[in-house]
Amino acid sequence: MKTKGIKRVNVITLGCSKNLVDSESLMLQLESNGFRVAHDSNKPAEIVIINTCGFINDAKKESIETILQYEDLRNKNKIEKLFVFGCLSERYKENLEKEIPLVDKYFGVYDLKDLIESIGGHFKVELVGERSLTTPKHYAYLKISEGCDRTCSFCAIPLIKGKHQSRPIEDLVREAEFLIRKGVKEIILIAQDLSYYGIDIYKEPKLSELIDKLSDLKGLKWLRLHYTFPAKFPKDVIDVMKVKPNICKYMDIPVQHISDKILSNMRRGITKKQTYELIEYFRKEIPEMVLRTTLLVGHPGETDEDFNELVEFVRFAKFERLGVFTYSEEENTYSAINFKDDIPFSIKQSRMDEIMDIQREISNGLNVNKIGKSFKVIIDRKEGDYYVGRTEFDSLDVDNEVIVKSEKKNLRLGNFYNVKIKSADDFDLIGEIE
Ligand code: SF4
Repeated sequence: MKTKGIKRVNVITLGCSKNLVDSESLMLQLESNGFRVAHDSNKPAEIVIINTCGFINDAKKESIETILQYEDLRNKNKIEKLFVFGCLSERYKENLEKEIPLVDKYFGVYDLKDLIESIGGHFKVELVGERSLTTPKHYAYLKISEGCDRTCSFCAIPLIKGKHQSRPIEDLVREAEFLIRKGVKEIILIAQDLSYYGIDIYKEPKLSELIDKLSDLKGLKWLRLHYTFPAKFPKDVIDVMKVKPNICKYMDIPVQHISDKILSNMRRGITKKQTYELIEYFRKEIPEMVLRTTLLVGHPGETDEDFNELVEFVRFAKFERLGVFTYSEEENTYSAINFKDDIPFSIKQSRMDEIMDIQREISNGLNVNKIGKSFKVIIDRKEGDYYVGRTEFDSLDVDNEVIVKSEKKNLRLGNFYNVKIKSADDFDLIGEIE
């Protein structure tokens, strides 16, 4: 229902959880300026703001299609104003202004204040660090830095987001306290590169100190780390993880490849030997820890031998969670400028499939081993007659889920329950409340 004089704003978020956090900050600013704000809504709104992604070609395509869809509504006067911000807009502002001119204004990733002022609001400094949460009440993301100082040859992020900018520890502790007051039990730390946290502002890695302080906050049940970087991994993080029960024994560490030649072409700053040693180190220090990684196949110059090294590594490391991407040439990156995208798409695809087949076997074996065991599970949602939850070893959206049957008892979303695993498939577990 439209309330007289109050404008309705629909904020649409594309891309990753880092974008979602930016949308949430924007939404709170808009609400405090008297707008009625919805997120990814199908309901009518006078103003639409699209937060775009410009990471890889598929994401760019999705962002452009979404802008075109709303440009059409703008053209038909079904919406009054259309604004676009985020990574795609940061990277291709001038082209977009020319190609899709009916958008009222394009903004970059750091232009939140301008965006708010453009729709007639005032940016409120006192609200920095607070957000209007779009995630279920029991979990939230906490972005600890922006940008990236690495020079990975295939990646466009540093071109879009610029240099690494850590947020001070005190600010992050304050934001975490705000989230916990809102009822959040699980905080997921995100950044382009968690491992680099602190080096820019404190001149030394500070991730371990940050997680130590956050894990001390009363009411925080789970603290999860996403996107660490393998080269010069700050090992004191593991020391803290070992002694803090509320830090999930979960490490998301994208290794991308294993062949020395490809790692060097990718400019990852690490060798095959060091990568093997790092995985062995994790396994030795915290045997129950779950490792998640992502791999990139089909980078220019990847031969069958390079790929076979990767296959051997996947079989060795037995990552509990693993995702594979195929190389896509990103404009102005080091790889795009210096290498020819010489691997046919069909080969990239078959290499990806081969690794995923191996991973399916690994994951199935690990899951089957859990049958008969009990786990603490947080309940995320209800689907039909089932509840869907996760163990500490699984993150949102990307990992395994636990399908929980509870015929006798209604479960509360966001609560923890002990669940006994009764059966398993490749990527999910099925269990019953104990
Ligand atoms: S660490 Fe590498 S892959 Fe990740 S955002 Fe930075 S440059 Fe890109």
